[in-house]
Amino acid sequence: MKFSGKNVLVTGASRGIGAQIAKTLATHGLKVWINYRSGADAAEKIKEEIEAEGGNAAIIKADVTIEDEFNAAIKTIIDADNELSYLVNNAGITKDKLALRMSVDDFNDVINANLTSAFIGCKGALKAMGKKRFGSVVNISSIVGEMGNAGQTNYSASKGGLNAMTKSFAKEAAARGIRYNAVTPGFIQTDMTDELKDEIKAEYEKNIPLSRFGQASEIADAVAFLLSDHSSYITGEILKVNGGLYV
Ligand code: NAP
Repeated sequence: MKFSGKNVLVTGASRGIGAQIAKTLATHGLKVWINYRSGADAAEKIKEEIEAEGGNAAIIKADVTIEDEFNAAIKTIIDADNELSYLVNNAGITKDKLALRMSVDDFNDVINANLTSAFIGCKGALKAMGKKRFGSVVNISSIVGEMGNAGQTNYSASKGGLNAMTKSFAKEAAARGIRYNAVTPGFIQTDMTDELKDEIKAEYEKNIPLSRFGQASEIADAVAFLLSDHSSYITGEILKVNGGLYV
């Protein structure tokens, strides 16, 4: 994979898809900043795994829903490396409930974690990358932002908003040479989907044309492509990686 930049910040990279994105991008030669909120030990383990493979990684703690913390993290990175080349807004949560049982707090918490945090990151990246007239951002969205899902009115709204926001940032930032794209994973094997009951997982698998949940590495490969120079003419794209579940 061809990268012109030097570093990348991956939010929520202490486990799951974010951790795999960090590891994959390190194999392509980028210095990876592993962001975590509470999983200090897990983040340290990912850093050690990257270094054991000969990669370059650093750890940055921040709750990305808090504007000052997220901006301070970006500043720390720029102070250390003189730039932020790439950003992956991956951090996200679920608080699933049928809408009639969902409180406004449950709704707002998920919007804050999945959409507002990405706005802070996309804006911070535009400021930082705009100065260099170079950079690329990938937002980790979800298939349910495109097709909706019972029990996930909050989560699907956050991801549908993220898709639209990605396109808007792409339009605003293109003149400065900065690209914004999103990946919409289907069902991927992580802690998030481990919470699903076995019978529900089996039901989902029946409806996936490729007949299985995806691997985090399959999302990471799509992210690497969208960040890299191989996608230099792609911006504002929402790339489905879902085994054919929603086409
Ligand atoms: P996960 O295993 O639950 O990991 C989520 C990560 O986000 C954790 O590292 C967590 O850190 C971090 N995080 C959450 N809130 C944060 C905050 N406020 N500040 C900083 N970090 C925060 O989830 P995952 O399955 O890997 O999902 C990663 C992304 O992919 C999410 O955006 C999710 O919506 C999306 N996605 C996942 C699937 C799937 O099937 N798994 C499908 C579609 C989309 P802590 O440990 O500190 O909380």
